[in-house]
Amino acid sequence: MSSVAAGQDFVRTVKGIIRKRKEQIATFREEENEVRKFVLESFRRLGRAPTLAEIAKDLKMNEERAEASLRKLDAADMLYLEGGRIVAAYPFSNQPTPHEVTFTRDGTRTYSMCAIDALGIAFMFGESVVISSRCGHCNKRLEIQVGDRAGSPDEEIMVFFGFARSEHAATSSCPILQFFCSRAHLDSWRVANPSKLGAPLNLEEATSLGKEIFGGTLV
Ligand SMILES: [Zn+2]
Repeated sequence: MSSVAAGQDFVRTVKGIIRKRKEQIATFREEENEVRKFVLESFRRLGRAPTLAEIAKDLKMNEERAEASLRKLDAADMLYLEGGRIVAAYPFSNQPTPHEVTFTRDGTRTYSMCAIDALGIAFMFGESVVISSRCGHCNKRLEIQVGDRAGSPDEEIMVFFGFARSEHAATSSCPILQFFCSRAHLDSWRVANPSKLGAPLNLEEATSLGKEIFGGTLV
């Protein structure tokens, strides 16, 4: 695939994702949207997903109704349930991933599902964060600041934006949406993983994509 064709595919894919998410949010009933926002705000406050009991208590509803809302959000791929428990609520993961995201203001530490999700968190909450991740090729530790206090961006860091999507992003694209310490290491990884389709993004492009996907989705 030429880089121009890959770029066009990339733009189409991204616009499709953003449109689909906004259409889905608009179809949620008020109660479902309250649960969606409470789950995300819990990750921000506690660094983890809320329990069913916490959702029910805080939103003053019984657990059956809270669970019904979670199932609706799961079906729309806003979050991912396993055995009735929240495993992920995009952009957050409830279990450790290679992408650790710390809120600068109070040090709350969370994990994101993928590189783009990590970059989007700052824009979802209008706060600055520090991302700690690793190069997908050489495993070198990478630190990326996003938001108000961001220093000069590391010109070398790249993100691979994968196209593969199945029913849930958590089990398809997320594992291949990762950071690389340099263009050379992203290229080496692609040579070793020829079946993974996608586009290389520099840090600025990846950050604006995270902003476009997650910015303004908490209102
Ligand atoms: Zn590397």
